[in-house]
Amino acid sequence: MSDQHHFDVVVIGAGPGGYVAAIRAAQLGLKTACVEKETRLGGTCLRVGCIPSKALLESSERYIQAKDHLAEHGVDVKGVKLDLAKMMARKDGIVSNLTEGIGFLFQKNKVTRFEGVGSLTPAEGAHGVDVTAQDGSVVSLRARNVIIATGSEVATLPGIDLDGDRIGGSTEALAWSSVPKHLVVIGAGVIGLELGSVWARLGSQVTVLEYADGPLLGMDEELRKRAKRIFKKQGLKMRFGVRVTGVKALKSSCKVEVEGGEPIKCDRVLLAVGRRAHTAGLGLESVGLATDKRGRVEVNAHLETAVSGIYAVGDVIAGPMLAHKAEEEGVAAAEYIATGYGHVDYNAIPGVVYTEPEIAAVGQTEEQLKAAGVPYRKGNFPFAANGRAKALAATDGFIKILAHAETDRVLGVHMIGPRVGELIIEAAMAMSFSASSEDMARVCHAHPTLHEAVKEAALAVDGRALHS
Ligand SMILES: Cc1cc2nc3c(=O)[nH]c(=O)nc-3n(C[C@H](O)[C@H](O)[C@H](O)COP(=O)(O)OP(=O)(O)OC[C@H]3O[C@@H](n4cnc5c(N)ncnc54)[C@H](O)[C@@H]3O)c2cc1C
Repeated sequence: MSDQHHFDVVVIGAGPGGYVAAIRAAQLGLKTACVEKETRLGGTCLRVGCIPSKALLESSERYIQAKDHLAEHGVDVKGVKLDLAKMMARKDGIVSNLTEGIGFLFQKNKVTRFEGVGSLTPAEGAHGVDVTAQDGSVVSLRARNVIIATGSEVATLPGIDLDGDRIGGSTEALAWSSVPKHLVVIGAGVIGLELGSVWARLGSQVTVLEYADGPLLGMDEELRKRAKRIFKKQGLKMRFGVRVTGVKALKSSCKVEVEGGEPIKCDRVLLAVGRRAHTAGLGLESVGLATDKRGRVEVNAHLETAVSGIYAVGDVIAGPMLAHKAEEEGVAAAEYIATGYGHVDYNAIPGVVYTEPEIAAVGQTEEQLKAAGVPYRKGNFPFAANGRAKALAATDGFIKILAHAETDRVLGVHMIGPRVGELIIEAAMAMSFSASSEDMARVCHAHPTLHEAVKEAALAVDGRALHS
């Protein structure tokens, strides 16, 4: 085998976990390759996840603002029309630009790219990765270390076959060429609510069916309740405690069957019940690796699998399925390999739902603190009392800070309101530095900003908010 095919690190998968791991490994002086089966780099996140969904959320929000809300600012626009093809083309342009950018970063950092399906193979004194290209040709690589970053795929439910068109997952729902009259979304999690919001803004009647008792299972109860109220007000029809038993594509419509209820007829269905780790074709078993009960690759605290020198990061391992969590792990895995040290602060990973208003959280929920018997104090502050929110005409929502009752250390921050996806970073930063709510309250915040609501919530922990 030629020297060209020997590497210090081979990364399998070029999503946020994999491409970031490859760049960091190369920065640290390791000879690095990245294997990706898709032509375009960037993984789920850039191709069919975070980026295209945010592009459509932004465009659809601008449409609804122009159509329904600019008048209250004294801006009179008439004849607002939707050009869906143009909206989709803009989204596709952003995706192309960013995916090409990863190719540029690989070149800049001297990461060698291999296009094809990567599978682990046993090899003498090293690890083997075979790369099978679309034409069936195979290139064999040797590596001292391998980082598995193969991500996740759409999870399905029994009785539902995605037909790649009318019954789709998020990938299809990001590319429909017409606005469905009636869209049924199965699952009121982040993806269901974000994409449900996009199509509702563009004119669909949207019905969300969810098995749990409310949206966004796992988030803080107070946030969930407020979110439920806001989404209902926005016209999303939400039904909870509903078990979907099957979906059928008819000639020109779909039928959604639910337990103990009448079937629902609609034009399109979006299945958004979660994602599952993607390990198909990876050859885990050939090197003696098994997966856990949920099909995920198991790793230790250093992100290393049971086989020395094989690491795994991102959606394919346990933890929140988030791009920034994958990136942090990618960096940490590369640093463990190069230096023996790495770090991911799992207590301070923010999560954001990019609906309108946005929803964001970091750290523990009130329910988790109660269940663990941790004494806490809480401070709430409503956006209705924030000057910038009033200027934005976006006063629905609040910020809640939970701090330890004795030490005052911030344990969790939960937000629903305007642009809280940006505000949450202040809380994540505070928690990363083990700040107290008093520390947060003592920081001088510019006026008028939405960030002042964070300061006020921190003051409220001590019962001394100034503006509510
Ligand atoms: C609609 C949607 C919206 C989302 N929005 C957000 C958001 O706003 N914020 C957020 O943080 N997260 C969001 N996510 C989740 C985010 O996309 C994932 O958490 C993230 O992409 C995980 O990164 P990863 O590198 O682990 O895996 P992935 O991004 O899934 O990348 C894995 C890559 O590995 C490749 N691959 C798989 N197997 C092989 C193989 N054997 N050989 C070669 N290549 C292989 C795949 O083709 C893929 O490119 C969203 C997801 C979806 C679906």
